[in-house]
Amino acid sequence: MPTLKFAVLAGDYIGPEVMSEALRVLRHVAEEEGLELLARQADVGGAGIDNHGKALPEGTLRICEESDAILFGSVGGPKWEKLPPNEQPERAALLPLRKHFTLFANIRPGLLYRELTAASPIKTERIPDGIDIVCIRELTGGLYFGKPKETKTLPDGDLQAVDTMVYRRSEIERIAATAVAAARSRKRKLCSIDKANVLETSVLWRKTVTDYVAKNAPDIELTHMYVDNAAMQLVRSPNQFDVFVTENMFGDILSDEMAVICGSLGMLSSASLGAGRNSLGLPFGLYEPAGGTAPDIAGKGVANPCAQILSTALMLRYSFGLEKPAARIEAAVRRAVTSGARTCDIAFGGASIGTRAMTDAILAAL
Ligand code: NAD
Repeated sequence: MPTLKFAVLAGDYIGPEVMSEALRVLRHVAEEEGLELLARQADVGGAGIDNHGKALPEGTLRICEESDAILFGSVGGPKWEKLPPNEQPERAALLPLRKHFTLFANIRPGLLYRELTAASPIKTERIPDGIDIVCIRELTGGLYFGKPKETKTLPDGDLQAVDTMVYRRSEIERIAATAVAAARSRKRKLCSIDKANVLETSVLWRKTVTDYVAKNAPDIELTHMYVDNAAMQLVRSPNQFDVFVTENMFGDILSDEMAVICGSLGMLSSASLGAGRNSLGLPFGLYEPAGGTAPDIAGKGVANPCAQILSTALMLRYSFGLEKPAARIEAAVRRAVTSGARTCDIAFGGASIGTRAMTDAILAAL
């Protein structure tokens, strides 16, 4: 019986609420598919600070290292907001995890079911069938990590701040490989987004992606787009994209834009794949909902568990190579929503059900 060894870092506020529902779905699927689950829970974020004095305790990191994947909730919230910036849960837990495991490829499906188009700020006539696109964001390079990164006083007394945008060809090649794999599993259409009319890093980005696809993936239809145009096209006509790939900061902004046009954060999952392989020879990855800890609704039992549940599907697909159970979970979520099960974030003022009842509907659909 295949064993799925993964760390469960539920985090704060709605994190544990939606995580326990995701585990219910996973246990159900595991039983039906003959999979053994070895899920090890550990504190992270605010829970790490409260129980162990730091957002990413050593014990938590060790459990992650001993696992084949991390199922992550979300961290942070008002309780820890007064801490110094570098001790804040997100900065002191998520960023070190990304760095420690070189989680360079962030995969975010932008999925809006036809039944939920009213949740999108885009007019329904522009997206009659909903939205179905994928954003691939480079996550460990570019402006957020380049050095020098500093603020200094100049000889004339003025203050100057510097961030550095830097990319190596090898960093671009490995994200191009991830993007090609994603495109191959869909319509074989890939759009690379950059600012090659202004930035040196973008000139290298465009050339590297072009060369990589020409050499390794002639079956992929590759196009290029400037990021300012992409920001417009995403709201004008999102489905003109299938898979798009872009560098860290552009991806940060475009993926949030994509989240907004897809309606509720409660529906959006994400995968961050590492450079390393797990014990199965597959990518080590961290899987989490696109949203945060939603303190405004925490403890009320109304959070939408779908994003966390869909994140488990991504974990099965990428870190365990289990396409069938992954697709089953995705289909069950879609069926539950299609048949009218709605948490308050996707109910548009109509009747809504709670977190647990939503999971029950997904289990019934399974
Ligand atoms: P948020 O994503 O937590 O919430 C934004 C809005 O979306 C809220 O109205 C919330 O109720 C709603 N929402 C989010 N997830 C939902 C769900 N599953 N079901 C129903 N509604 C949902 O963003 P925020 O309020 O800006 O941040 C709250 C905290 O989360 C902050 O401390 C922030 O730093 C943290 N955060 C953590 C992560 C992470 O751990 N990866 C990501 C983003 C924000």
